[in-house]
Amino acid sequence: MDSQLRRTKIIATLGPATDAPGMLKRILEEGVDVVRLNLSHGAAADHLRRAQEARDAAAALGHEVAVLADLQGPKIRIAQFASGPVLLENGQPFALECVANARPGDVRRVGVSYLNLYKDVKPGDVLLLDDGLIALRVERIDGTTIHTVVQVGGALSDRKGINRQGGGLSLTALADKDKEDIRLAAKLNADFLAVSFVKCADDIEQSRKLMRAAGGNAALIAKIERAEAIVALGEIIEASDAVMVARGDLGVEIGDAELPGIQKKIIREALARNKVVITATQMMQSMVESPIPTRAEVLDVANAVLDGTDAVMLSQETAAGKHPDKAVAAMRRVCLGAERQFEPAEDLSPGTHQLDRTDQAIALAAMFLSGHIGTRAIVALTESGGTAQWLSRFRSSVPIFALSRRQAARRRMMLYRDVTPVDFDPQGVDPAHAAKAAIQHLYNMQRLAEGDRVILTTGDHTGQHGGTNTLKLLRIGAGGVAEGLGEL
Ligand code: PGA
Ligand code: MN
Repeated sequence: MDSQLRRTKIIATLGPATDAPGMLKRILEEGVDVVRLNLSHGAAADHLRRAQEARDAAAALGHEVAVLADLQGPKIRIAQFASGPVLLENGQPFALECVANARPGDVRRVGVSYLNLYKDVKPGDVLLLDDGLIALRVERIDGTTIHTVVQVGGALSDRKGINRQGGGLSLTALADKDKEDIRLAAKLNADFLAVSFVKCADDIEQSRKLMRAAGGNAALIAKIERAEAIVALGEIIEASDAVMVARGDLGVEIGDAELPGIQKKIIREALARNKVVITATQMMQSMVESPIPTRAEVLDVANAVLDGTDAVMLSQETAAGKHPDKAVAAMRRVCLGAERQFEPAEDLSPGTHQLDRTDQAIALAAMFLSGHIGTRAIVALTESGGTAQWLSRFRSSVPIFALSRRQAARRRMMLYRDVTPVDFDPQGVDPAHAAKAAIQHLYNMQRLAEGDRVILTTGDHTGQHGGTNTLKLLRIGAGGVAEGLGEL
């Protein structure tokens, strides 16, 4: 489609809009690398069906797609109203009733999903409803009732979310529904599990244990969307495989003015710790209705790419929007444009990267050399995808072709910036010749051409996990035969 190889990955949330005939195929053709199942909505059967349909559609197009299952998490919500939305006026009193089976709400009061909320708030707190559209100031707490005054009014409808400005509501990380949904994610063989409203590393460790106990192998993504998660950012990143800048809830908790700085900080810290990072929510929000993005949205997506994000995400735009395929196409176009301007400013001098592992050291050496001798690509023979992850943590302008025989590894690599996973099985090829066979394979796929210089990373024993210990400099000769580089 494009002659330029796209480096930033695109995640699209599935929903009723992508269920339209032919739409799944179209969004995959437009460039979706990862599909997201939002477990806050829909039935288990829908999620199982959509995961299968996405994999079938990708297979028909001859590439992989990764599946990301996103837990609802302990989002606090108001209960229901007796007769539809109510209109709250500035300055009027409004009460939140923290009792089981609260009576249906009206313009004076409504129930909440979290019965201990009255213990967590104090007079003066500001509660934000519906992603911050409505603000209530807490006046006093009377038994289990929170009495508030409406600061910013508007229409309020059933089951809208509640956040506290500044964060700090102490709900446990995994609700019963989440535990059930982890089993669902394992059953549909999700490649990634996103954990919502993470507060600390332990929330991730618990989710990982439940995932493994359910027989699933998904990588764990921590959604950074609470004020507390910013304080514990380092330990959360360490405990996770990837993090998501979940700007919807995060913006409500910390205030929108802090969001741009925090986005950059999360991206920087994730990369410094060799982890993967996603930028999410309202990236192309106007495209829920409109066939083209606003200038501000174009700049937002491009800036995330320039910040160094691995992936950008579409939520409602694809799940429930009018133009899912156009939203993906716009995102692809904007990513490509930003990538043309991207100037990697990576400092690869000794001491700037902590080296703990041989494969990491080889990755660093590969990136250092590729910047010096001008290479067309880096080719990684990788079993688990680990080497490709190390390589792609250094933002460069060189594509990484990651050859693995393991489908699970190839799917996971769909999320890594700069990495194009390729199906290649070195089993049965004499390890001494695996590098040549890999180059020939990429030449046959027209990923490499005669005259290209490449850096190839491999191990002594192909097919061995974490065994990368070798770096080769090669030139593609006539017919795709790999040759030594000789003089540089
Ligand atoms: P959500 O998470 O879409 O599940 O709320 C993302 C966000 O809050 O930005
Ligand atoms: Mn959220």
